[in-house]
Amino acid sequence: MNDNNTPTPEQTTRSFACPSCGGTNVITTTQTQEFTYGVGADAVRLSAEIPVRRCGDCRFEFYDREGEEARHEAVCRYLRVMTPHQIRDLRLLHECSQADFAELTQLGEATISRWERGALIQTHAYDNYLYLLGFEDNIRRLRQRSQRAGPLLPRYTYRAIQITAEVQNRMTRFSLVGCMTEE
Ligand SMILES: [Zn+2]
Repeated sequence: MNDNNTPTPEQTTRSFACPSCGGTNVITTTQTQEFTYGVGADAVRLSAEIPVRRCGDCRFEFYDREGEEARHEAVCRYLRVMTPHQIRDLRLLHECSQADFAELTQLGEATISRWERGALIQTHAYDNYLYLLGFEDNIRRLRQRSQRAGPLLPRYTYRAIQITAEVQNRMTRFSLVGCMTEE
């Protein structure tokens, strides 16, 4: 079903310029990189497969946006939440732009954008919501709900504006029950 002609920027051929000497004789190797996530007692060591660029002219080594993404995904896996790519795929599954998805889910468009760029990691509550949005049934329910005239109201409740003698009497009778053993 993936026969559309949408370009995938991740797969296009790129040439890297060395940030140190400006040379283009840069080769990429994949390296396992360990890093610390969190601070203090919560700090953990995580590892990620990082594409490392090495300049053949000046021997300068560096990693870039792709490396950042690999580290971010390792953090998401550790936290057991959806990765930015998974969130984007979820949105595209329902054929939504970020604006459409925001309208449908009532999530903020800027928030969705931050999640997809890896600028922000969603809370577990939002992650559960995203998980449920993966089911077509739930999308259909949301669409139906937004088409209804008003929100679903909870059971009718009331609160007295004034405590009248009658209300007072009723409350006293109820509260007296607990005081009868005083003898
Ligand atoms: Zn260089």
